[in-house]
Amino acid sequence: MKYVDEFRSGERAVRLAAAIHREADAGRTYRLMEFCGGHTHAIFRFGLQDLVPVNVEFVHGPGCPVCVLPMGRIDNAIDLARNHDVILCTYGDLMRVPGSHRMSLLKAKAAGADIRMVYSTRDALAIARAHRRRQVVFFAIGFETTAPPTAVAIRQARAEGLSNFSVFCNHVLTPPALAYILRENARASRPAGIDGVLGPSHVSTIIGSGAYEPCAEAFSMPVVIAGFEPLDVMQSALMLIRQINAGRHAVENEYTRVVTREGNRKAQALMAEVFETRPAFEWRGLGKLPDSALAIAGSYADVDAERRFALPATAGSEVKGCLCPSILRGEDKPADCRLFGTVCTPENPMGACMVSSEGACAAYWSYGRFRQPATAA
Ligand code: SF4
Repeated sequence: MKYVDEFRSGERAVRLAAAIHREADAGRTYRLMEFCGGHTHAIFRFGLQDLVPVNVEFVHGPGCPVCVLPMGRIDNAIDLARNHDVILCTYGDLMRVPGSHRMSLLKAKAAGADIRMVYSTRDALAIARAHRRRQVVFFAIGFETTAPPTAVAIRQARAEGLSNFSVFCNHVLTPPALAYILRENARASRPAGIDGVLGPSHVSTIIGSGAYEPCAEAFSMPVVIAGFEPLDVMQSALMLIRQINAGRHAVENEYTRVVTREGNRKAQALMAEVFETRPAFEWRGLGKLPDSALAIAGSYADVDAERRFALPATAGSEVKGCLCPSILRGEDKPADCRLFGTVCTPENPMGACMVSSEGACAAYWSYGRFRQPATAA
């Protein structure tokens, strides 16, 4: 398959692994944070950690949009569905994410709330057209990748006069989160910090690789925008190792088949029209970050579910012992969690990192990487 097979070639992987072994300095460590959950899954699915020297370590970052959603927002969505007589439309990933008191959208649905899983914003609009006497709310989450389709839906609802449709907006922005992590990394007294970043791929198709240049400059941090196939990740790791060895800290783009420096200007203009930046937003694991999320702009206030239903700001209560917050900061790994594989499994998730298809705990569990330590030399 075009753009898949050639990026999964075992022969090329062997050559890239040899180059990484040759160029990585045995006298130091290379801690490379992969920002996206998609990278984390590629690393585990294809066993990439075992192909690189032991002093090259992949550190998992906060790039799973379901995982960083604070519990209070899940509680808000559950409240909407249970107490406001709405049809709540949501992506499947969110259905099993635990809210406070082990409640989830799936459990609320089982108890009678009208919650429907959709594959796109178009599905949510279709439900609103079919049920004009009911309020239909789309639970919008994701990074800059999924914000443009939400913006299109908001404009479409306005154009059609779909007054029963609104959006509960939870879109978050990646550069502020990366800046936070790099700032903490610079402050940390931990012996091993982050040496380089495998930058977001799909997000960067929208905002462009140039969006990370201020971060790279401010924190003297090498960044390589990396695709999601195994050879993308290996090539990007090699590019980072070369930058680190040369003492450089540029933003380089490995994912040139999709990402440009400027990004998608049309999508950016659409987002600027429909959304405004929130002064601050709570990220699970990272806390309240300034200018890190989108709200629906005042000119589209009538489509904003937060205003329509006067949703309160709620904090939510984390499960005791769940290490999702520190895993999202790259400080712990899933196997460090006492609940991993015992109390917490994909069938019975305690935290969002075990639920989402992009979560680090789900990746460890799915590919069994916790069963045997890496043995590469
Ligand atoms: S294993 Fe479960 S409880 Fe532990 S950090 Fe992961 S999601 Fe949280």
